[in-house]
Amino acid sequence: MRIRKLIPIISFALFFSYFNQGFSQIKKDKKSLKYSKTIKAEELKEKLYVYASDEFEGRATPSKGQELAIKFLENHYVSNNINSLQEDTYFQTVLPPKRFEKRWSKSDIKPKNVIAYIEGKKYPNEYIIISAHLDHVGVQNGEIYNGADDDGSGTVAVLEIAEAFSEAVKDGRRPKRSIVFLHVTAEEMGLIGSKYYTDNPIVSLENTVADLNIDMIGRTDPKRPKRNRDYIYLIGSDKISKELHNISEEINNLYLNVDLDYIFNEEDHPDRFYYRSDHYNFAKNNIPVIFYFSGTHEDYHQSTDTPDKIQYDLLELRTKLIFHTAWELANRKERIKSD
Ligand SMILES: [Zn+2]
Repeated sequence: MRIRKLIPIISFALFFSYFNQGFSQIKKDKKSLKYSKTIKAEELKEKLYVYASDEFEGRATPSKGQELAIKFLENHYVSNNINSLQEDTYFQTVLPPKRFEKRWSKSDIKPKNVIAYIEGKKYPNEYIIISAHLDHVGVQNGEIYNGADDDGSGTVAVLEIAEAFSEAVKDGRRPKRSIVFLHVTAEEMGLIGSKYYTDNPIVSLENTVADLNIDMIGRTDPKRPKRNRDYIYLIGSDKISKELHNISEEINNLYLNVDLDYIFNEEDHPDRFYYRSDHYNFAKNNIPVIFYFSGTHEDYHQSTDTPDKIQYDLLELRTKLIFHTAWELANRKERIKSD
């Protein structure tokens, strides 16, 4: 008699342990919520109107305009008391691949990646990288290509995320793991800055937990069949670590409910976006990645990609999503695992 009575209890327990495997138990974190509120549309806008201004001349590699852009990035980190990852400089000079040696040697300006970081409290030697490319295509036929969406939007998102983490540090809430803010150069010439970084990493690739890469998140895709605005394309999230993919989904469900659109996630999609931004250099080194992207549009790689066309409420929403995901990756008990 008794044993039979036990059966439903056992199966109930089995049922629950089975479900717990599929649904990990991330709980809403009030601190993540608090600091996400420092990410504001007006601040993103203010920064982007400088970063994508004519003064920076479209940020070609190498150029005076790009030098101004990297100075702007450095100033941001200095004024927010965010350290450089290397001991005495925020800059990693990037040497050209063979095919650009001649072209780059014509200029005195040396292209650079800009790298800042917040040291983790408990696992300082585990690093979450948040990346965006700092360059664009410069001036062509006398017209400045401001690159507000490409990739001014990702750049100012990284700056706001860094600011949010630094606010937490000021309140004594340093993340468990270290966060690296990586602005790479010469993406538009073939992912050169990120390749240089992963070939010459400042912190070992084995200790790099994940790369969250942001490239164009400020607009909406006019060709997207679904017409809701509050979406983002995620690319690559399930390729190396299913755990990362699940965390990304759970975090979104907990905090924001953005429509996560995976239409470009297939590696053999004709647009091949998986191979077309800087996360790819991390992915090929077996580092889990998520590429955040809101799609191309009529101003893509045109002189008309200007800051007045950015949808700042959406830029804020998407930046918050990336911040919450980074916060979870940096503060969860166990480092995420590759499959
Ligand atoms: Zn581009």
